[in-house]
Amino acid sequence: MAAGGGGGGDRRRDNDMVPLAALIRRELRSEKAEKTIVRYGCAAQSKKGEDYFLVKTDCQRVAGNPSSTFFVFAIFDGHNGNAAAIFARDNLLSHIMGAIPRGLGKEEWIHALPRALVAGFVKTDKEFQMKGQTSGTTATFVIIDGWTITVASVGDSRCILDANGGEVSLLTVDHRLEENVEERERVTASGGEVGRLSIMGGTEIGPLRCWPGGLCLSRSIGDMDVGEFIVPIPHVKQVKLSTTGGRLIIASDGIWDALPSETAANCCRGLPAELAARQVVKEALRTRGLKDDTTCIVVDIIPPTDSVVELPSPPKESNKLNCLGFRKKSRDSSNKLAKKLSAVGVVEELFEEGSAMLAERLGHESSSSHSYSSLFKCAICQVELAPFEGISVHAGSIFSTSSKPWEGPFLCADCRKKKDAMEGKRPSGVKVP
Ligand SMILES: [Zn+2]
Repeated sequence: MAAGGGGGGDRRRDNDMVPLAALIRRELRSEKAEKTIVRYGCAAQSKKGEDYFLVKTDCQRVAGNPSSTFFVFAIFDGHNGNAAAIFARDNLLSHIMGAIPRGLGKEEWIHALPRALVAGFVKTDKEFQMKGQTSGTTATFVIIDGWTITVASVGDSRCILDANGGEVSLLTVDHRLEENVEERERVTASGGEVGRLSIMGGTEIGPLRCWPGGLCLSRSIGDMDVGEFIVPIPHVKQVKLSTTGGRLIIASDGIWDALPSETAANCCRGLPAELAARQVVKEALRTRGLKDDTTCIVVDIIPPTDSVVELPSPPKESNKLNCLGFRKKSRDSSNKLAKKLSAVGVVEELFEEGSAMLAERLGHESSSSHSYSSLFKCAICQVELAPFEGISVHAGSIFSTSSKPWEGPFLCADCRKKKDAMEGKRPSGVKVP
């Protein structure tokens, strides 16, 4: 927030009047305003052994530069075996990072994340399906860079935000056929059948499922034995916390089937992250017993010190500033306003998109806006494409000529086939005996 557009103007004026020491101090202050402390805790109770999680605290946007550190937290709740969950845990992060163009600054990098997440999820799914195994997994993947939180998810492992001084909000969408009308419509339109399990006498039981396969989820990674309209394209949401920080609770449905979001947030408020994670699991088990794998990660994003982000000025400095009269006053009052605003716990929404259409998620890209090298890479699997080999993601069909076939992003023939399959444009690869 401190690095707003007005900052540059201030600095120019200051050059005439404010000594270097003060300038440096201000620089430090704005850099400090972007600095956060991240604390986390994990807790789990296993029933089927199909929940997995990932915690990475040493990722860097720029290799070798510790000030570009970001954090990754993820939960994978597997079904029909654990292979997909393990594969996603081990490969998703590198596939996402591989889809971010090199040499981006911090802001551009954050801006590039939503697209890279889509590409990384689809690539991971495609690679896992090539292994010919039938399991599947949810994936809820959280990237924290300074005050900015980016969450991508398929399935029903939720991530909630308890903003300090604000309210509890959901950063994911549940991809459950039972609860998600839009997803039911999408699956049906792509050729899937949605219905309940029917037992003897035609009685229907259990939640809504998708046929073939009988999965209750409408999106996942893996699951090659269900229709290809069960897609790995994640819902992505990006928010920026105020400098008062907040707490994330990321958990598998073992928690959310037992506790509403508010209850989960309330039952651990005030506890340090590690105890909080254990408390949430304990509360879920107390309510419902151990019916399912139950995994919870609590992440606290907090200011570097408890005191406000302001360095004390030495007496000499304050004398100088006093001479500046009105300007000092006005800057002071705007600081106060900013502090008041952040104390309310305002969470700024930067991005949200949940469409299952790749063309919408990968956006448009004109040849002039991109370097020559990235023009000929598949936007999903990043494989290099020979000139004219790539197929525009916006091309109507593999057989028809696009109105703008030169407009990127481009897909390789394989990823283009996958795109068509996910949209129900070709018979899925299901082999039902
Ligand atoms: Zn490809």
